[in-house]
Amino acid sequence: MASVPGYLVAVLVGLTTCQVGLYLTTVVLHRALSHRAITISRRPLWACRALIWLTTGIRPREWVAVHRKHHAFTDVEGDPHSPILYGFLAIQLGNVVYYKRAASDAETIRRYAKDLPPDRWDRVVFDHGFLGLGAGLGILFLVFWGSWQLALIAAGVHIVSYLLASSAINAIGHRFGKRPYAGNATNNQWLAWLVAGEGLHSNHHAAPTSARLSFEPSEIDPGWWVIALARRLGWVQVRHSDVRLTARASLAATGGTR
Ligand SMILES: [Zn+2]
Ligand SMILES: [Zn+2]
Repeated sequence: MASVPGYLVAVLVGLTTCQVGLYLTTVVLHRALSHRAITISRRPLWACRALIWLTTGIRPREWVAVHRKHHAFTDVEGDPHSPILYGFLAIQLGNVVYYKRAASDAETIRRYAKDLPPDRWDRVVFDHGFLGLGAGLGILFLVFWGSWQLALIAAGVHIVSYLLASSAINAIGHRFGKRPYAGNATNNQWLAWLVAGEGLHSNHHAAPTSARLSFEPSEIDPGWWVIALARRLGWVQVRHSDVRLTARASLAATGGTR
């Protein structure tokens, strides 16, 4: 490490932390909690909640409610973050503003996250997002042996790249790419590599409860690899195993309108 400049290490740590946040987002917030495509055992779930708190500061029930509303009103009035309604750049650069607006609406949370009432851990610790991000910054401070400068570079790279990458799922994922299924959602394999598989967004809208987002041999969903490993370790249960059939069945059942 002596020959590698400290700031470069800080950038790499920031990008790695961003990936950890994106994998937690897709596996826990999206596939497990929003769609119940997988069920995570109690202790690993608690660890994931703590890591989500440290890396994103997101309150899971708010993310879940906003996301379920997106599925209920995809690209029509009521969609919290549609690039079709609000424009590509507005969502790619300002998704967090649209997210915050929807997440602060008590009616949205009440209606779409009934199954995730806050527990004691939420009330005391996990609902305090800025405390989590502050604790995460403190851990980076320790990682960099007391250098605030390097800790702040890593945190800045993490936050900016996490926001841009997760915004791209909503912005690019409804605007540019292949549309093998009905609707505006698109598949972009290059994006899927960057965002833990979420770039296969047309597939996801066609079969929202599928734990795996890749349906064809040519498609790769790195988030599924993490789920497969966690299943082998006994940490998760998968609801659907034959995802390709599920996608076709879902498309047929909805007349291709999803
Ligand atoms: Zn979508
Ligand atoms: Zn979804």
